[in-house]
Amino acid sequence: MSATDRPVVFRNGLVLTMDDAHTVLPGADVLVVGDRIAEVGVGLTAPDDALEMDATGGILMPGMVDTHRHMWQTAMRGYGADWALTQYFVWYYLESGKLFRPEDVYAGNLLGAIEAIDAGVTTTVDWSHGLQTPEHADAAVDALEAVDGRFVLAYGNIQQGPWQWATSPEFRDFHRRRIDGGRLAGFQMAFDVTGDPAFPERAAFEVARELGAAVTTHAGVWGATNDDGIRLMHENGFMTPSTVYVHAATLTHDSYNRIAATGGSVSVSTESEQSAGQGYPPTWQLRHHDIPVSLSMDTSVWWSGDLFSAMRSTLGADRSREHLEAHAKQETITHCHLRAEQVVEWATRGGARALGMDSTIGALTVGRQADVVLIKNDASPVMFPILNPHGHVVFQAQRGDVHTVLVGGRVVKQDGRLVGVDLAAARAAVASTIDHLRETMGEEAWQRGMNPDVPETAILENPYQYTEWDAGSAQWKH
Ligand SMILES: [Zn+2]
Repeated sequence: MSATDRPVVFRNGLVLTMDDAHTVLPGADVLVVGDRIAEVGVGLTAPDDALEMDATGGILMPGMVDTHRHMWQTAMRGYGADWALTQYFVWYYLESGKLFRPEDVYAGNLLGAIEAIDAGVTTTVDWSHGLQTPEHADAAVDALEAVDGRFVLAYGNIQQGPWQWATSPEFRDFHRRRIDGGRLAGFQMAFDVTGDPAFPERAAFEVARELGAAVTTHAGVWGATNDDGIRLMHENGFMTPSTVYVHAATLTHDSYNRIAATGGSVSVSTESEQSAGQGYPPTWQLRHHDIPVSLSMDTSVWWSGDLFSAMRSTLGADRSREHLEAHAKQETITHCHLRAEQVVEWATRGGARALGMDSTIGALTVGRQADVVLIKNDASPVMFPILNPHGHVVFQAQRGDVHTVLVGGRVVKQDGRLVGVDLAAARAAVASTIDHLRETMGEEAWQRGMNPDVPETAILENPYQYTEWDAGSAQWKH
């Protein structure tokens, strides 16, 4: 990788630092030396051997952070576009998810990891709940380590209770081999709390505490997890500032109070919540409880892996809710609470904070890791004028405009093209996974899985019914 050993200087960009004051610097440079940001400012002096990148007409921002992505499912990109949560559960938990071999987890993770850095998502939590065996877990990590992004493995296994896999010798052995002193950016334990009064998940929480691992959990998911799970976690002392509550969409104020009081954060997956039915994307509630937010895309089997889309849909859902609540009271919203600037913060600093990495990533400030995204597309009519920088990122830019990406000072995408990535190998791995699934399931089941039945739509009675068009009078006749 030629560029990575040299300093890099971006010249003359519109810099969204996302520092504490959210400072925006027009016509500014960002100098990267080694793996860190060395300087940010106008007209910087760079070392002679620095690689010069022209950021004119572009926006420089910190690499984005996705706090919840089931990367193994990327192997089936788009398959579940018309699913509701029911079809997802049947597919992955009860039926075909079991067919995933270690090489299939590898294929999905590899493609997901490449997709992330290509889209400017420099840190991703791999919410890896398909780890049926230690071989599956090794394959997941192998894929993440093969790509120059920052990846946090959130270990899970939906084929067993967490009290089973988390207490197994194989899990401990895996943790010793691959996590302690490994190359991943972090480690979490991923499991859900069903609300069973016996609280069998206690054993898994105790392992997490012993390993110093954060727990990430699908909470407040309609029909699956609810307030009982939160209450049990709280009463048993397992809610910590590092706990990440994914969705948290169908909860009462009491649960939000418990989350807020213990300092945890919520990973909002708006595209997911809007389509799958976990509950309404909860940002409009979370602000009233002052609960920190990060963003996530959940899974590419349904939706995009695109944090621009996460920012856009989150802003839209929040405002949509605010308007609807007001209209129900015959009121009008004249000023929106949620601002574009805030969702850019959630996509960067919010994710960094949720992962306990706020001192190292999430902002373009001196000394932080150089995870840098340049949004620039000189051929696009959408790149000018740039009047409202945060608004431009949220509503105008898209991942195709991600021009250059650095992770820890390494150039992983330059001038619109991935650097040092073997996309053909990833494509071949995914193709063989699809062949395996299709052959094992059979074509009929494969097609049925992708095309769930459509419920009938009742057409409402319409009083303005006409039967015939009279050409002579040029009028409808009753
Ligand atoms: Zn999820």
